[in-house]
Amino acid sequence: MTLEERGRFLEQQANISPVEVEALIHGLTIQEADHMIENVAGVHDLPLGIAQNFIINGKAVLVPMAIEEPSVVAGASFMAKLAQSTGGFIATTTAPEMIGQMQLLEVPDPLAAQEKILENKDALLASITDLDPILSKMGGGPRDLEVRIIHESAIGPFLVIHLIYDVRDVMGANAINTAVETLAPQIESLTGGRVHLRILSNLADRRLAKASVTYETSALAFEGFSGERVRDGIIEAWAFAAADPYRAATHNKGIMNGVDAVVLATANDWRAVEAGAHAYAARSGRYTSLSRWYKDQGGNLAGELEMPMAVGIVGGATRVHPTARACIKLMGVQKASELAEIIVSVGLAQNLAALRALATEGIQKGHMALHARQVAIAAGAVGEQIDRLAEQLVLEKKVRIDRAEEILKDWRQ
Ligand code: NAD
Repeated sequence: MTLEERGRFLEQQANISPVEVEALIHGLTIQEADHMIENVAGVHDLPLGIAQNFIINGKAVLVPMAIEEPSVVAGASFMAKLAQSTGGFIATTTAPEMIGQMQLLEVPDPLAAQEKILENKDALLASITDLDPILSKMGGGPRDLEVRIIHESAIGPFLVIHLIYDVRDVMGANAINTAVETLAPQIESLTGGRVHLRILSNLADRRLAKASVTYETSALAFEGFSGERVRDGIIEAWAFAAADPYRAATHNKGIMNGVDAVVLATANDWRAVEAGAHAYAARSGRYTSLSRWYKDQGGNLAGELEMPMAVGIVGGATRVHPTARACIKLMGVQKASELAEIIVSVGLAQNLAALRALATEGIQKGHMALHARQVAIAAGAVGEQIDRLAEQLVLEKKVRIDRAEEILKDWRQ
């Protein structure tokens, strides 16, 4: 499709209005940006692609992805297509419970302080139940308090109190920061200590999203690679990431190619999602793969991905950024948990796209063909020259800027 055809397709096939299609195309105005952060001098754009073929929990969904890297949108779409014959992705989420931390210092007896807080848990939680009336109305609010003693640190022992807070459809950082700041004086008067930091934890390990998928082995076969060979190669590649942090970092980066692109398209806080993902990947004490790939009882390739997913469809910039609003509408999500389910499914698909290439023909063949256009532009190609030059570079197997410049010079002469 041409760019115009894609716009028309979205208007006709997706549940979005011409104004929303316009928002996908032109995005944020500088005036809107000026209200979002400080000292605005411009708007920084990224390409917004639409991943196709995704079926998630039985529902077809077009997934917007904001990313500068070629081959990610194509890779995710392709893996989603191969998963269609087995019904696509099944995804679930836990309750949207975030953790707010309070650092309690200067308590003479940490054990006694711990006990005191736990004894008063119900009253403490009740005191903030109506702190956020909108959140309460939506069914969210405080759920639990946990107290840990850090026995050894650079400043000696201290206590950490976790407020478990259900934030429903928002990312929740502001909501939970307000809640812990409100609770802190009560903790101080109960224990006689001093509450120092009061802030959410980005290790949102109670707010998890999980996706699973199955591929028929025959669906994995291509160009001289049998389905069995591809399946086993993918499992071997996963085992490398599971065992080695150097590989796991790159493996998880591939997952985040898919995850971040959707997080960014919906103007969610991708640093928070990144921080949560990597901290969760290291939760055993050794950094490892966030996903798992294995052969199921029927001999199919099965995969799953579980990770923290602190994203909202309300709050933060999600309703402020016109493109984000249009992206959320495009996916037809009504709850933050549905968005999280889409994101984790795209992460799993993207993980497989990279593993499949790595375990067979290598990553460069497919990637460089798509990257060639960026190299052509960087070398100075314009208009129709871009695709022509990219094709020439791929044909010569020299996707390099020096060669691109040489060809352009020849053409100009
Ligand atoms: P927010 O403060 O914009 O909105 C949250 C509020 O929205 C809730 O308190 C509630 O009153 C209301 N609300 C309306 N409809 C709701 C619904 N359906 N479900 C739940 N609440 C509803 O946003 P936020 O999500 O609390 O905070 C997100 C922002 O905080 C992001 O911009 C993020 O970048 C930023 N932030 C992040 C960190 C961090 O990750 N470490 C720290 C500080 C701030």
